[in-house]
Amino acid sequence: MKLKAYRCELLLANPWKIASSKGSGTHQTVIVELTDADGLVAIGEAAPSSTYGEFAEGVLKFLHDLDTAGLSFNDVPGSMAFLEAQPGIPMAAKCALNLALVDGAARRAGQAVYDFLGLGFRNDHHVTSFSIGIDAPDIIRKKVLEAAIYPVLKLKVGDPRDHENFAALRAVAPEKAVRVDANEGWKTKEEALRQLEWLASDGRIQFVEQPMPRTTSTKDLLWLKARSPLPLYADESCHTIQDIPRCAECFHGVNVKLVKAGGVSVAYATLQAARKAGLKTMIGCMIETSVQVTAAAHLAELADHLDIDGNILITNDPFAGVTSQKGILSFATAKEKIGLRVSRRN
Ligand SMILES: [Mg+2]
Repeated sequence: MKLKAYRCELLLANPWKIASSKGSGTHQTVIVELTDADGLVAIGEAAPSSTYGEFAEGVLKFLHDLDTAGLSFNDVPGSMAFLEAQPGIPMAAKCALNLALVDGAARRAGQAVYDFLGLGFRNDHHVTSFSIGIDAPDIIRKKVLEAAIYPVLKLKVGDPRDHENFAALRAVAPEKAVRVDANEGWKTKEEALRQLEWLASDGRIQFVEQPMPRTTSTKDLLWLKARSPLPLYADESCHTIQDIPRCAECFHGVNVKLVKAGGVSVAYATLQAARKAGLKTMIGCMIETSVQVTAAAHLAELADHLDIDGNILITNDPFAGVTSQKGILSFATAKEKIGLRVSRRN
């Protein structure tokens, strides 16, 4: 198997700031291509996240040093077991390789990935939220106006200006459904409860993601869950299927992302386990191209909510795949019919 990996600098429409990281106008991702002996080419993406201490350099170094002899489109589980045994594999690199392996396997089978996985996909049924990063209130107002076509917004909080920012959102979108993401920003359970009670008084908040740090004790999370007036979803606290039992205890739902899970295969198992445990499921994303957003969309039938807008937040997406019209996802116009259904833009 031949492996090609290269860096891709993504330009953001607006600088991106959340509670756990500083604002930035660009973001580095890594694109991977696997080519087998028959010349079948498959694609994947690593969208490394500084939240987890991963960067493009480390991902590229790992991929350049990797002996690809253990990878095959004919054996995705065996290939993943080979990758799991590689010391120090970044989860973003594992994700990129898994996407390419699943793309290649589905191409071999002549199927789209959602059919290859037995899930199917309903066009014009699934809706993604549109994310509004932390900013000054007047910029929040402008961003919310620009996002008028999206039926659901996700507001990032965990900043001293939270109340002003939320008021700015409501000033221009009084009726809109909103979900909120604190990105570990509230440091004590008392602070988190105060903020949740304030948000609940709005009456239109769907749920709140990751109110407290991922290192918060089970005891404190249970205290908060017992008192929270809004459903609480784990993001930074939920990576893979192994985190589901604790999340079922401490949260009402989980936000599963391909990068955290190490690809489509584990994300699929994690979403299924979450549903079985009675959790609501959400699929999220990083700042990323249409390769990874489209890969996530193939799992949409396993999600109660989608937040896969990483490709909408950038202005130089080199790829096309699933489309979003007013937040409603569709593969209807995708040029590519099999695999991840991703093609390069001209
Ligand atoms: Mg989140």
